[in-house]
Amino acid sequence: MVCQVRIDLKQFSDTPVLQDLSLEIPTGAFIALVGPSGAGKSTLLNILSGLDRDFVGRLDWTGGSPGKVGYVFQEPRLMPWLGVRRNLELVLPDVAAARERVDELLARIGLAERADAYPRELSGGMQRRVALARGMAIQPDVLLLDEPFASLDEPTAEGLRQLLIGLWRELGMAVLLVTHNLREALALADRVIFLSPNPGRIVLCEDLHPWLEPGAEPRDPDALLQDLLSRHPEILSGIASTEGA
Ligand code: ADP
Repeated sequence: MVCQVRIDLKQFSDTPVLQDLSLEIPTGAFIALVGPSGAGKSTLLNILSGLDRDFVGRLDWTGGSPGKVGYVFQEPRLMPWLGVRRNLELVLPDVAAARERVDELLARIGLAERADAYPRELSGGMQRRVALARGMAIQPDVLLLDEPFASLDEPTAEGLRQLLIGLWRELGMAVLLVTHNLREALALADRVIFLSPNPGRIVLCEDLHPWLEPGAEPRDPDALLQDLLSRHPEILSGIASTEGA
């Protein structure tokens, strides 16, 4: 296990946003977190990342000291005045020691030839690739992704999903992906967690067969979606009617 969070209560201005919620992140797991807008998904990521410590509960890391956390947002949030390579190096404590890793990541995201290009010279999909690589550059124990493929055209989103899966397989960190696209969650994750709002609570945790195991059957996310909806229609109706699900 990488870490475990227990949130008795998280509120903003006396309004409970998350309550009685426990989440364990196993080593190397790929967890998807789905739920309607306002359910508290980003708030949970902020708590896990250590950015938000203002909650009642505890965040425990295996080994005692906080692990390394990579964070990828919906918008790439690249520094416009820095080239691609410098944007990756920005998050590294020791740039010289990580030169080879940055080179590998640049090659892996297909931008080795564009290492000096500025974000404005890149397509939206390329910028997202840089943001994904930046999240991985510190070799995180956990990579948090907050709707990283939202508002992209489907071929670009699919390319990025494949890139994420490939890098996750190679690098082996745990991933927590927030998405409102249930089909995407079922296509990628080995555990899908559902949050309901007001206040945000976990209402369902669905474990899926690990499709990366040798000899595993290929996943059919549409069939998984139908199966899930038939078993939990009331919980999922709001989620499944949203974009892409
Ligand atoms: P989600 O990511 O599931 O859409 P959020 O975690 O962004 O949900 O927000 C959960 C709730 O907390 C929402 O009602 C939102 O308005 C509120 N909220 C989030 N951040 C703040 C903040 N900094 N101050 C006040 N309310 C906030």
